[in-house]
Amino acid sequence: MDLSPSPRAADLTARVRAFLAEEVDPVESAYHDELAARRAGAGDPWQPLPVLEELKAKARERGLWNLFLPKEHAGEYAARFGTDGGEGLTNVDYAPLAEAMGRSAIAPLVMNCNAPDTGNMEVLLRYGSEAQRRDWLEPLLDGRIRSAFAMTEPGVASSDATTMEATAVVDGDEVVVDGRKWWSTGVGHPDCAIFVFMGVTDPDADRHHRHSMVLVPRDTPGVRIERLLPAMGHFDEPLGHGEVSFTDVRVPAANIIGGPGRAFEIAQGRLGPGRVHHCMRLIGLAELALELACKRALERTAFGKPLANLGGNRERIADARIAIDSARLLVLDAAWKLDQGGPLNALSEVAAIKVAVPNMAQQVIDFAIQVHGGAGLSEDFPLAGAFTAARALRLADGPDEVHRGMVARLELGKYGARR
Ligand SMILES: Cc1cc2nc3c(=O)[nH]c(=O)nc-3n(C[C@H](O)[C@H](O)[C@H](O)COP(=O)(O)OP(=O)(O)OC[C@H]3O[C@@H](n4cnc5c(N)ncnc54)[C@H](O)[C@@H]3O)c2cc1C
Repeated sequence: MDLSPSPRAADLTARVRAFLAEEVDPVESAYHDELAARRAGAGDPWQPLPVLEELKAKARERGLWNLFLPKEHAGEYAARFGTDGGEGLTNVDYAPLAEAMGRSAIAPLVMNCNAPDTGNMEVLLRYGSEAQRRDWLEPLLDGRIRSAFAMTEPGVASSDATTMEATAVVDGDEVVVDGRKWWSTGVGHPDCAIFVFMGVTDPDADRHHRHSMVLVPRDTPGVRIERLLPAMGHFDEPLGHGEVSFTDVRVPAANIIGGPGRAFEIAQGRLGPGRVHHCMRLIGLAELALELACKRALERTAFGKPLANLGGNRERIADARIAIDSARLLVLDAAWKLDQGGPLNALSEVAAIKVAVPNMAQQVIDFAIQVHGGAGLSEDFPLAGAFTAARALRLADGPDEVHRGMVARLELGKYGARR
């Protein structure tokens, strides 16, 4: 196993870190202040702040754009929209870049490497027709539009992707989409132009072939954003998470991705690498939390000693370091196995990191909040938002229990157990 970055990845990592230090870090706290002011009534928090567009242009100038493009599917798109006109990156090579971006709430967005767009772009790269790629993938890669993934429904337990009840019925050369989705991330953004919608096409097919994925333009009649949902009080502007109703929405049948009945397969394919990216970024967020905790613990004094020397804080710092480094190795191991043999080669490893990393990050960030005292829960530090992000990721990519179920099934399968 070789987990060392290629020379290109090492170079890109240094460049991403320099971009963050020189361009993003100096403006990020002002960005959050301005957003908070808008939330308090000084403007519209859903209109992206101009600084985001400025940073996007700077990232692009530096060749730090669409870094997520996967080596095996990037093809001509890497040359046209990727970094340095080069080819896509392996998962192992992308890991340190995503980790660096994960320290910032805005860096993934300004480098066009944010969820859910990356996952949707991967779907179009892997399964999209030529016309679907031209109409939707290219503007996404170009950063002109954004997208949402509409799978989860309020009415059914969406941990099980085969239970979705919304419908996508083929009617001649059209497909008619009906149903209600929620937690569709990205729908709050004014540039969100396209939804990847999952619905039942053939209720009589076996449970893994009933559903289709359909590209539904946001401005199609019958699409309605009902509300934007706060996650533990955070609306996550400018992307947001929305509840969306689809009523007799008609789009060309050619908008079905990969043909009818392939939604389950696409959902699995989409959420494999995409979830690895979340884990990679969370390692960076946990690193940031530990860094802030250590600095605070050395700077601040109580009972005549630096906080670092009180109670069990040194041991907690050590445990956090051990936990982060262990999680990073698990992520790199999963990334390497994905690179060697694709998602089927890394089923257990990918499921394992989806459990291990958000739980690790949640604990490390919780410790950092505690060390900061009341300040840790305020908006003066990024810790409360970081905690929410880590906590949400224990659900957003499917609940821990489902991933544990996968690890256990594969483990028991070694000894002859059936599903
Ligand atoms: C911040 C955020 C962003 C999201 N973004 C998106 C998005 O962009 N697009 C999208 O489609 N969805 C998105 N989601 C939704 C997310 O994918 C679902 O919430 C998740 O899949 C769980 O589905 P559910 O909420 O219906 O929970 P349910 O399926 O109702 O599950 C509830 C609980 O039941 C238990 N459970 C379920 N299955 C098992 C099992 N096999 N074994 C043991 N216990 C089990 C677990 O404790 C689980 O948490 C997002 C969610 C959040 C919080």
